[in-house]
Formats: sequence, C-alpha cells, structure tokens
Amino acid sequence: SITGLGGTLGGALALIILLLQRKRLSLGARLAQALDKRRLTVVYQPIFDIGTNTPRSAEALVRWVDGKEAIPPDIFIPVAEDEGLIKRVTLSVLDRVLADMTAFLQADRTFRININISAADLIDPAFASALEQRLRQANVRSEQLGLEITERSTANAAAAVDAIRTLRARGHRIYIDDFGTGYSSLAYLGNLNVDGIKIDKSFTQTIGTGSVTVSIVPQIVDMARVLNLGIVVEGIETATQRDYFAGLQTPIDGQGWFYGKPVSAAAMQELVQEKF
Ligand code: C2E
Ligand code: MG
Ligand code: MG
Ligand code: MG
Repeated sequence: SITGLGGTLGGALALIILLLQRKRLSLGARLAQALDKRRLTVVYQPIFDIGTNTPRSAEALVRWVDGKEAIPPDIFIPVAEDEGLIKRVTLSVLDRVLADMTAFLQADRTFRININISAADLIDPAFASALEQRLRQANVRSEQLGLEITERSTANAAAAVDAIRTLRARGHRIYIDDFGTGYSSLAYLGNLNVDGIKIDKSFTQTIGTGSVTVSIVPQIVDMARVLNLGIVVEGIETATQRDYFAGLQTPIDGQGWFYGKPVSAAAMQELVQEKF
C-alpha cells in the first residue's frame, strides 16, 4: 500500500539521517579526544611583501592527524563550531603558537603571526581575556599576534564591531579572511574598522585564465586602498599570479605555494633566521 511504502521510505530516510548524524557525532567525539590528548598541531605559512619579495609575517594553520588520517580544518572546524569545541581548538592553537613564538622572536624580534579565530571566539569576552592573559604569560605583545576573522563571523554586526574595536585597541591587527566570498559591501567594510583584508584564493586562481572575475580584482584592491586597508592575497601559486599583483603598483602582501607551503615550527624558525 501507499502508506506502507511511505512508512518504509520514511524508515529508510530516518536510518540514513541517523547514520549521517552518527558519523558527524563521532568526528566531534574524536576531536574532543584529540583535544584532551593535545593532539592538534600547528603549521606556519610565510606571508611575503610582493613588491620587495621579503617575508613579513606568517599564518598559523591547525592540523589534526587522527591515527593515520589527516583530517583537514575545512572539515573539522565546522564540526568544532557546531559542537561547542571551537574555543578549545582556538586556545590549543594559541598555546602552540605562543610556545613556538619564543624561538621565532629570538630569530627576529619584529616577527608577527596571525591565527584564525571563529565567530564565537570573536564575540566572546571570555576569549578576549584568555587571549590577553596568555599573551602576558608568554611575554608576547598583542601587536605581534594578528587575528583573521571571516566575513561570516561579522554577521552579528553590532557585537562584531565592538569586539573588533576592543581587540584593535589592545594592539591586535584584524584581517577579514577569504574576502570576496561573503557578503561584505564597501560601506559595511568601512564600518567594521579592520586593519586589512585577505583576498580569497578563488580570485587569485582566475588570474591568467581570461575569466570575468579577473576584472573584479583591481576593484577590490582599489576599494581596500580607498578604505586604507592592508591587502593580503591568498593562494599565489605561480609567478604569473605574483607578477599580476606586483603590477597593481600598491603595497600588497602575498601568501601561497609560490612563496612557500605551510611548514613545521622548526622549518619556520629557520626561514625566519635566514630571510626575515
Ligand atoms: P584560510 O585561513 O583562508 O587559510 C588558507 C588556506 O589556504 C590554508 O588551508 C592553506 O594551507 C591554503 N593555501 C595556502 N596557500 C595556498 C595555495 O597557494 N594554493 C592553495 N590551493 N591553497 C593554499 P588549510 O590549512 O587547509 O585551512 C583551511 C581553512 O581552515 C583556513 O582557511 C581557515 O579558514 C581554517 N583554519 C585553519 N586553521 C584554523 C584555526 O586554527 N582556527 C580556525 N578557526 N580555523 C582554521
Ligand atoms: Mg586565515
Ligand atoms: Mg583565507
Ligand atoms: Mg579559507
């Protein structure tokens, strides 16, 4: 009968949903375990001044290898955000970075690093004070720790504006990450009052392809210039892409495989020693 079939389909659907949920739940549970056992690690990717070809800072990127399986942050960060684990992830990255920072600063006193923070971190006063306290303990100045937030995390505009103001007043630089993939308009960006934008790698990848998106890139750069924002271009993989941004005749920083893939703290320290 129709109802019987509906019941069977409904049952099958419920089972599929249950399995999907269990898979997701189990990733959350595995992540909680990894946090307990301090299994998350951090790699560092250099950020270069495109015009002068000199390294200026680095971005810290979290890594999780569960057994033999490397689980990418694009997979587990959303799970951490959904399951209330993100603050623990962020603080474990922060602790790792601050521990590594001592060696980086010995190699170069002016070294700066960015970490990625999530929407929940940004507007959490407890996070802001944990951050301040840990920096003080590690003897690292807030000027040396930049914070990357996504456009998505500024959706709660009023709270985000307040949090950004507080963190900047303390000396942190704030960057809008993956710029161009969200909803930030020019006016909105002006209101947020950040230090800079990181142009998403999807734009970089259009350079040299004749894509219509290419024509948007100079306008993003112009807009950032008008608003007096720093510009970092993500995902620079080729000399052609580097040359394109160098040709825009404005100070731009670049990050990507062309300059260097994310590396261990030890390798980063060597790079700082040699090149910074
Ligand atoms: P993101 O912050 O935009 O980081 C840049 C991503 O681009 C990194 O991926 C990096 O490895 C990758 N990348 C760098 N250069 C190139 C290139 O030339 N070509 C290509 N195709 N990719 C390049 P990753 O490490 O897999 O991180 C992905 C995203 O996960 C990050 O994007 C960030 O949104 C998030 N994430 C990473 N670490 C953390 C963290 O500690 N906390 C939080 N909340 N999010 C994090
Ligand atoms: Mg980032
Ligand atoms: Mg990005
Ligand atoms: Mg990204």
